[in-house]
Amino acid sequence: MGKRDYYEILGVPRQAGEDEIKKSYRQLALKYHPDRNPGDREAEEKFKEAAEAYEVLHDSQKRQLYDAYGHEGLRGSGFSGFRGFEDIFSSFGDIFQDFFSFGGFGGQAQQRTAERPGEDLLVTLHLTFEEAVSGTLKDVDLNTMVACSRCSGSGAEPGTKQTTCPACQGSGQVVQSQGFFRIATSCVRCQGTGRVLVSPCKQCQGQGRLREKRRVQVKVPAGVDSGTRLRLRGEGESGYRGGVSGDLYVRVEVAPHPTMERDGDNLYTKISISFLQAILGDTVEMPTLDGQKTLTVAPGTQPGEVVRFPGEGVPKLRGYGRGDLFVEVEVRIPKQVTPRQEELLREFMELEGEKESHKGKKWPWSRHKEHEKDTLSNVQPEMNPS
Ligand SMILES: [Zn+2]
Ligand SMILES: [Zn+2]
Repeated sequence: MGKRDYYEILGVPRQAGEDEIKKSYRQLALKYHPDRNPGDREAEEKFKEAAEAYEVLHDSQKRQLYDAYGHEGLRGSGFSGFRGFEDIFSSFGDIFQDFFSFGGFGGQAQQRTAERPGEDLLVTLHLTFEEAVSGTLKDVDLNTMVACSRCSGSGAEPGTKQTTCPACQGSGQVVQSQGFFRIATSCVRCQGTGRVLVSPCKQCQGQGRLREKRRVQVKVPAGVDSGTRLRLRGEGESGYRGGVSGDLYVRVEVAPHPTMERDGDNLYTKISISFLQAILGDTVEMPTLDGQKTLTVAPGTQPGEVVRFPGEGVPKLRGYGRGDLFVEVEVRIPKQVTPRQEELLREFMELEGEKESHKGKKWPWSRHKEHEKDTLSNVQPEMNPS
């Protein structure tokens, strides 16, 4: 009798890539899996056929032989077609894990091993503004599962081993027949692992891990911001009975700065100078995240003017370089002056008046200033309705 062509069985072209073959096989395996089609002979045959085709086509050596010589070519290679469900599950475990891990349906390959991966952890790390900008080292205290020191995570009392579960003979499942139905449930004795401990570790009761406090040092790169998540591989909870550890996710929360604001990689701050410094120009000391910086104020600087310092902002978290620093200039007007200062200012005003004869047109209320000093404060709110 003629065997069907493997490519035809999987419904893929002869030049199909590994992924395409795998994907197609998964679909067929899921569709024709015996647990989903109890008592259906045809489905079972299709399932076996697909498994055989996959075993050949996903193995580049066997595939080459098959491509060159067809079914004949495989005969001399020791390949004997379908080998039974047990082998399918153990050799193709990775394929099944993704979708056969629910309930008591299949999943034997995954459940047969006792270990389970540890859970991921998420912690929030509070940083100062400066720490986030410059990067820092921080200790994080975790209340987590750590590998048991007594059994080194295996769960077995030192000197003892795991043995095949007597209740399920190592399959991890107990099958019961009810009329036409075959119901497979996870073995209670071994919790579906297929293995039991002759003598569980006294310290961890066979879990292979214990809840303990653990301190992790987190290296925070320069340029993180609120909401940044750092991933520390393998720093999560230890696995069950020697399974791989989970990951630790650190979510950053940055405190505000009293005088600086941040937008991405750029920093914004304000500096306050007197109206005289603004008019005449000056150099002023300005605090920045890198220490004191001297800012040169040009003569005639206007209130609200913004000075930009390229490359003096926040280091870029991804990539090189830094953002910019923007400094907004605020100009202070004195609330009170001495009689002598007033005298000089009035003189200055007169000089200005000669320069600009339209004085007074811009400020209609300034004419009444002398006589209505105390009503001035009533005028202002009208000019800036809030
Ligand atoms: Zn232990
Ligand atoms: Zn069992």
